[in-house]
Amino acid sequence: MSRFLNNRFTNFDPYIPGEQPTDTQYIKLNTNESPYPPPPGVIEAINKSELSKLNLYPNPDASRLVEKLASFYCVDPKNVIVGNGSDELLAFAFQAFFEGGVVFPDITYGFYPVYARLYDVPFFEIPLKDDLTIDTGDYFNLGKNVVLANPNAPTGTTLDINEIEEIAKNNHDCLVLIDEAYIDFGGVSAIPLTKKYDNLLVIHTYSKARSMAGARLAYAIADELLINDLKIMKYSFNPYNVNRLTQLAGIAALEEDEYYFRNNIEVAKTREYTAQRLKELGFEMTESKANFIFAKHPEIAGEELYLKLKSKGILIRYWDKPRIADYVRISIGTKEQMEKLLEAIES
Ligand code: PMP
Repeated sequence: MSRFLNNRFTNFDPYIPGEQPTDTQYIKLNTNESPYPPPPGVIEAINKSELSKLNLYPNPDASRLVEKLASFYCVDPKNVIVGNGSDELLAFAFQAFFEGGVVFPDITYGFYPVYARLYDVPFFEIPLKDDLTIDTGDYFNLGKNVVLANPNAPTGTTLDINEIEEIAKNNHDCLVLIDEAYIDFGGVSAIPLTKKYDNLLVIHTYSKARSMAGARLAYAIADELLINDLKIMKYSFNPYNVNRLTQLAGIAALEEDEYYFRNNIEVAKTREYTAQRLKELGFEMTESKANFIFAKHPEIAGEELYLKLKSKGILIRYWDKPRIADYVRISIGTKEQMEKLLEAIES
């Protein structure tokens, strides 16, 4: 660190993203990307004529994209804001809403505690049950804001819509943020509930089920007043947070629902197939409704399996963290990629 770094960051632990290697060609099952490319309509939306307009700033409100998202989800454009990935929208929410404190599970998306520290938000981690599922009652009326990933990450376990509604209902004076990054692989979205509960904020990303992790695009849907508060954050930080090409890709993607629907079904089928095969090899796992499996084997620790697979050209992820050090998280790739993974594990 330089001698100029502010004191409060001298011992700061930033978020560590999954490896994005540029050297070797790995089978990449480590960052929950889609194994499928964006559909042709999205690729065509980014054409030469649009590239030649890169001298111009993007529309800061991303109005066309926001309108399109609003009609896709049957809400008003006033209920939608777009961001540079859900990470950015999460950052806005932590800054805007959580000075009174926030709770989230002890095992969940690693960025939540990082943002809490970055924005000086008091945070409390609620242990998952022994089977790594969430007890919804743990989140009722704590007098603190709530952040839940649904499906949770890296466990993949999923609350049903009634459970989410109970959490929203039992937190009348606190904000409930539901991060639905993986919802399209088997869960039911809480977006319709945002019309009924003005304390509910739902965040979705284009990074997973819409095959656009590289474009950096996400959106939040909530009561108009919450969205306006997030806009204060956005316009105080980076008004042009979603670039021209990404706005176009995001609009085009909303015309391609059938393509994504088919891919997401395929991912869910491949997940179930891989889970079954891993169970036959002695693995135990949580019940995942996401595009990854969270599994452990009684004879091999997470790090060891990670290293062995890496040496065979396959990347997965593990965490050196209490309660989950035995586990690995394996993103769901194509059927062929998963066969290669299973072969490598068997050998
Ligand atoms: N939420 C969860 C639960 C995630 O796992 C991820 C992916 N790392 C994100 C949010 C961030 O996704 P993105 O910024 O690509 O939208």
